[in-house]
Amino acid sequence: MSSEIDGYKVNDETEWSPALITTPPLFSWPLRPFLILKYLFGYPGYFLPRNICYMALALVTWFFLTPNLESMETFNVEWVSVIYFRNLAFMFLVFGGWHFRFYILKAQGKRFSFNKRSPQAKHRRFLFGDQVYDNMLYSVLGGCTIWTTYEVITMWAFANNLIPFLDWDTSPIWFIILFLVIPLFRDAHFYVVHRILHIRFLYKHVHALHHKNVDIGPWSGLAMHPFEHLLYFSGILVHWLVLSHPIHAILHVQATGLTPALGHLGFDKYLFAEKKPLTLGQRYFHYLHHKYFECNYGGDGTVPMDKWFGSFHDGSEESNKLILERRKKARIGA
Ligand SMILES: [Zn+2]
Ligand SMILES: [Zn+2]
Repeated sequence: MSSEIDGYKVNDETEWSPALITTPPLFSWPLRPFLILKYLFGYPGYFLPRNICYMALALVTWFFLTPNLESMETFNVEWVSVIYFRNLAFMFLVFGGWHFRFYILKAQGKRFSFNKRSPQAKHRRFLFGDQVYDNMLYSVLGGCTIWTTYEVITMWAFANNLIPFLDWDTSPIWFIILFLVIPLFRDAHFYVVHRILHIRFLYKHVHALHHKNVDIGPWSGLAMHPFEHLLYFSGILVHWLVLSHPIHAILHVQATGLTPALGHLGFDKYLFAEKKPLTLGQRYFHYLHHKYFECNYGGDGTVPMDKWFGSFHDGSEESNKLILERRKKARIGA
């Protein structure tokens, strides 16, 4: 059965076929200033809808939900627990919130869903025979713990002036620029780490755990082997070298922790009040990685490294053919 919502043809029963993925214009040559401005400030774009939320959340987190720096000079259970339980609460709010809305309430059924099946499989490849419980366990025990460990050590290092500390008063311009470019760094870092995780040995022993999720849902996002968590959150280490402020590190690690929920949503659009489909940014990009494996290693392609290194899949038949050809060649070469 199919229906039409706001000009979109929607199949209520099967997966949704979204428009082909286009590459953001930031790194295209020749530079096209109008397109860049539209991408930066338009919807969907660089800031909207996702990064602006992470930036606002980082500000709230630093000013209201982080112990003061002096108290973090020495490790103690009190302030470490504040950070751990704050992260855990955000995790349940964001991952649990999306899951609840799309897969428990089923608020928009399968409309705008990429998945063929619901990402709530019962299968013996999952712990407890249940995809969601398996994913939650790895996210909470490994994901939240390693996220918090990186954050705690970094805050402690800032508190003790062991790493370069950027003051707002000395360089407000650099302060703002750094804050605004962190999503770019995150995307490029994820591409590199993810590409490494697809090296045969690491894939087999580490990353295959994440790829147990063929049909994806929010809790698939941080369902990783702890070694993958270690690599995945390691981007925060850049703040040990580059002049920055704790607020930059918080934005960096918090967005890294929360992004996978939306990245693995399994839906392209948020159907608001049964009328207006609201785009959620480039959700198809990583879905295709789970479907075809050897493509789209970046987070959402903000920095088009997949395009530069030949692994970009835009969702077209041509991209499918290229992937299959590459697979064949790899098998012959092996
Ligand atoms: Zn994934
Ligand atoms: Zn992968």
